[in-house]
Amino acid sequence: LVKEGPISILGRVCSLLENLIHEGDLSSKKLNGIGIGVPGPVDFSVGSLVSPPIMPGWDRYPIIQTVQQWFPTTNVVVDNDVNVMALGEIYQGAGKGVDNLIYVKIGTGIGAGIICESKIYRGSNGCAGDIGHISVDKNGPLCHCGNKGCLEALAAGPAIALRSLNAAQAGKSPILMKYYETNGNVLRAEDVGNASREGDAVALEVIRESGQFIGDVLAGLVNFYNPGMIVIGGGVSNLGDLLLSSIRQSVLRRSLPLATRDLLIVFSEIGTDAGVIGAINLAMDNIFTLLSNRVEAVAD
Ligand SMILES: [Zn+2]
Repeated sequence: LVKEGPISILGRVCSLLENLIHEGDLSSKKLNGIGIGVPGPVDFSVGSLVSPPIMPGWDRYPIIQTVQQWFPTTNVVVDNDVNVMALGEIYQGAGKGVDNLIYVKIGTGIGAGIICESKIYRGSNGCAGDIGHISVDKNGPLCHCGNKGCLEALAAGPAIALRSLNAAQAGKSPILMKYYETNGNVLRAEDVGNASREGDAVALEVIRESGQFIGDVLAGLVNFYNPGMIVIGGGVSNLGDLLLSSIRQSVLRRSLPLATRDLLIVFSEIGTDAGVIGAINLAMDNIFTLLSNRVEAVAD
């Protein structure tokens, strides 16, 4: 969908929002804030994507200004989708009340949102948490970023599906081959999850291995950052408990005992709602920041 480009997508989003306002009979109310999460690196100061790998046409596109053409009196804020989901987790999800948390989204890519002292940590340029391109295996498969053996190229959805397909085509898994053929010659990560629940040895091994890769990277993050909780979300988390237990094992094996003493590693309980809840809170935080800046300016 995002490949259709910003004009078509933002137009669709804004007209859907207008319909919602109309249907809810909210036309007389003032819409104070809009929070938006987008799947790519965001320069937060201007609310634009910078060279997003999967979103042609979105590079530096003025998202805020475009949305404000529809809603001129509304404050609009744009952030990376994983940051927004991390925020959702500390407000309404598994991470409620946790001050320092890492939210990891594992889907077509792998990214992390970092919560530091209950706020999103964005880093100097807005791209903190881009853990998908941390090197796991120098001789590993080529990643779309041009490097070899990135975490994403080994453990994201497409990598899980590809490793499983290779094994199936080598005759090692009739169950996976059956999924491949019934889907019209496509194998998806969720098929690997289903095959694992049927006890398929290849699927179980691929999931265990992927969990280890993810856990090895997270172990480094735990040593570096000492979070109180890691929340795993995104489509691949549907692979189930084997993935989670492999991640936990790797983290426990490779992190400092003090860093893991109280560490919880859990699946998201709110799933994709994390994005919606996070966006609401992002919009509210933005409005309060603008108001307090205004108050300070008046006081000066
Ligand atoms: Zn990469």
